[in-house]
Amino acid sequence: MTNRILLEGGRIVGGPDVACDLLIEDGVIAAVGPSIAAAGAERIDARGMLVAPGFVDTHRHLWQTSIRGVAADWSLVEYIRFIRLGYATAYRPEDVWIANHVGALEALDAGITTVCDYCHIVRAPEHAEAGLAGLDAAGIRGQFYYGFYDVPTEPPHFTSHAGRVAHARDFLGREARARPASARVGVGVALTEFGLVPIEATAAEIAVARDLDLPITMHMGTLSTPDGVSRLDKAGLLGPRMLHVHCNASSDEELRRIADSGGTISITPETELQMGMGFPVTNRALAAGLRPTFGIDIVSDYSGDMFAQMRIALQTARAIDNQKVLDEGRMPPEIELKVADAYRFATLDGAEAIGLGAVTGSLAVGKQADILLIRQDGIHHAPRTADPVASIVLQSRPSDIDSVFVGGVARKRNGRLVDVDLEAVGRRAHASADHLSAAFDEAMARTEATATRSTYASEVARATRR
Ligand SMILES: [Zn+2]
Repeated sequence: MTNRILLEGGRIVGGPDVACDLLIEDGVIAAVGPSIAAAGAERIDARGMLVAPGFVDTHRHLWQTSIRGVAADWSLVEYIRFIRLGYATAYRPEDVWIANHVGALEALDAGITTVCDYCHIVRAPEHAEAGLAGLDAAGIRGQFYYGFYDVPTEPPHFTSHAGRVAHARDFLGREARARPASARVGVGVALTEFGLVPIEATAAEIAVARDLDLPITMHMGTLSTPDGVSRLDKAGLLGPRMLHVHCNASSDEELRRIADSGGTISITPETELQMGMGFPVTNRALAAGLRPTFGIDIVSDYSGDMFAQMRIALQTARAIDNQKVLDEGRMPPEIELKVADAYRFATLDGAEAIGLGAVTGSLAVGKQADILLIRQDGIHHAPRTADPVASIVLQSRPSDIDSVFVGGVARKRNGRLVDVDLEAVGRRAHASADHLSAAFDEAMARTEATATRSTYASEVARATRR
């Protein structure tokens, strides 16, 4: 029997300015229009609300949910030193599970229905299992990217790069076989920061993805990889299904090469601006023929919603455009980048960048019903903004998200996450945070004493030398 849900009388974002219905059948958007007859459907009153596609977060390290806010005042160098050489070395599998679970729930609560989890906390096989399970259990759509990065654990679980590659091949092969292309959560490969391992090691990591037909993502054009795109290209390793994250230090020519290779990019506006990574490449990416997409990156620093990232990215990109005109001694006569651009980067462009353009990212008939109902009755919406997209991008907040559906399954209704014991989840999250906080000093001392073992640690030591 067909499972039918009818969202009644909402304003479809991107549609005409009239009340519309949206019919979901077996998790798929079946029809959008005024007065849809849907006998036997569960009816949900969407009157007065915006009906919108869920946001797509193309880059987040969910494991850092348990150390919320620690990086508030940190540069990238401090972040790497204290988190990746400190906190990370104290994570147990259960810490990864609860962090990924809470992070995914937080994303859902804020209207993110698809998240790319860059899980570079795989200290041992159990950490990978826990990360994927915690993500999956939240009910969000997502891609779990197995991180090859060698967390400097003493004693190390993986004693060689070849050993880690063998584990990744085994783990990802098993998961890929168990998950058809249509599965809600898929798997992929997150490369070790390019330059921290020899090019042969990067090639071996890429080979795992290529052999298993999986997507690849990696940090690119930052601290350790300013010319990473060129180096990948020279080694014949640049190609499609590669999601390049950040790219602040990549040249315009390198951005064009990503576009030409069929690769895509993820911009994480808030970390990039704060941590000294350079300006977000929104404008340069567009000029190079790439579609920008957004990642929240780390709630170890700031909030886990897409509203903040859309605003920061849009206004920063506008400032960059405006400054060029101001430098010519003129006033910018108009604004080039529109709210509709930022909205598309955060939805459809995100979905397309990770190969899910036919699955999610818009309200097209035939796509999975990854849908938000967004309230418009808060005092901050009085009087209401005429353009729904402007309202979402510049005026709305996570607390405006009334309902969230993923593949037609309600994950949030009437402003509350459903089918989850939030108190129990909160208790586990706090217990994990207490462990990590208590373990931090010892973890830091241990890692710095053995810094020479980790290329990353020696890199940080060099960067922080005065
Ligand atoms: Zn990142």
